[in-house]
Amino acid sequence: MKPIIYLDHAATTATRPEVVEAMLPFFTEKYGNASSIYGLGAESKKAMDQARSTLAEALGARPEEIYFTAGGSEADNWALKAAADAYGKGGGHIITTKIEHHAILHTCQYLEKHGVAVTYLDVDEQGLVSPEAVRKAIRPDTFLISVMYANNEIGTLEPVEEIGAIAKEKGILFHTDAVQAFAHLDISVDACHIDMLSASAHKFGGPKGIGFLYIRRGVKIRSFIHGGAQERKRRAGTENVPGIVGMGKAAELAMAERKETVERITALRDHLIDRVLREIPYTRLNGDRKRRLPGNANFSFQFIEGESLLILLDMEGICGSSGSACTTGSLDPSHVLMAIGLPHEIAHGSLRLTLGEDNTREQVDFVVDRLKEMVARLRDMSPLYEDYVKKNGRAH
Ligand SMILES: *Cc1c(COP(=O)(O)O)cnc(C)c1O
Repeated sequence: MKPIIYLDHAATTATRPEVVEAMLPFFTEKYGNASSIYGLGAESKKAMDQARSTLAEALGARPEEIYFTAGGSEADNWALKAAADAYGKGGGHIITTKIEHHAILHTCQYLEKHGVAVTYLDVDEQGLVSPEAVRKAIRPDTFLISVMYANNEIGTLEPVEEIGAIAKEKGILFHTDAVQAFAHLDISVDACHIDMLSASAHKFGGPKGIGFLYIRRGVKIRSFIHGGAQERKRRAGTENVPGIVGMGKAAELAMAERKETVERITALRDHLIDRVLREIPYTRLNGDRKRRLPGNANFSFQFIEGESLLILLDMEGICGSSGSACTTGSLDPSHVLMAIGLPHEIAHGSLRLTLGEDNTREQVDFVVDRLKEMVARLRDMSPLYEDYVKKNGRAH
């Protein structure tokens, strides 16, 4: 087997060894239920409180504003459904965007079936939402604005601070899906006037199946899971103590290393983007060139299918992701690439490569060298490319 070159950190990350080490005792020796009175339970409670404080600190929030969930999707569902319940009262209006994660979009579609009106804002060619468009979309019955902090496909960083200021001025709740940004970027819930924020541990070196929803004190949010009194009666269920401890540890490590990691990964990303755009003809970068997540590169290669490219990359041990949803059983290209105005055939030739802290320059160079060969090979087999070359000649 070839060694794996993992360039799909936006899909998930490996759980860091330090994180696994911090979690292990909470499976075996320190297995007490955090709600129990005896010492064994108290140890779990203490570890959980510590994680809660670390996560709160990362956002400039208070520990009691952090509510643990089973990941980003649950946090997104909770924020929207419970806000609709408490503030929409069977109707009302939500403003969101066309490029949100499906955890937001499909929840909005569900709410529409239950009487909530939803505006899905357009974005520009870089994937940016305009704060002015948000302002214009506000209606008297708008109770929630939900705009993601950073897009998971094209990496674009949204003007969250400006949108938050508008929400605050109008007295409307502001939620942001920060699953791609939390722990990677410096986020302040106060500076951005964020009322609710979703995060997920497996996107920043923590375990899968654990995340949290930040809910600002004073926001009236109903419980999502009914049952016991955990999470201040808002999210019942025996706490996932090992997961919570792991998420806390991953956030602690990420915060301590952030400055250096961001600088290194940004430089590596720029090197990748520069080489691909310079050395592979008929290629475009999707998303904003500068205003993007440190590790995100998303390309469209004309005349080929992203899926074919992924298969060839996999044969070389390289993990990436395509811009189409074919893998999930649909032939439609990604809703994000459609929203930035790519024609179908260009969107179909898209490839997302997302870098993490373990990636090296040697790996990036190896991947670009392979990509050049693969794109050329696929184009040589492409009738679209043949037609184009007949009409326009070959580019070099
Ligand atoms: C991964 C992701 C989610 C879903 O998080 P899970 O923990 O996998 O449920 C939601 N939003 C964005 C932007 C994501 O990247």
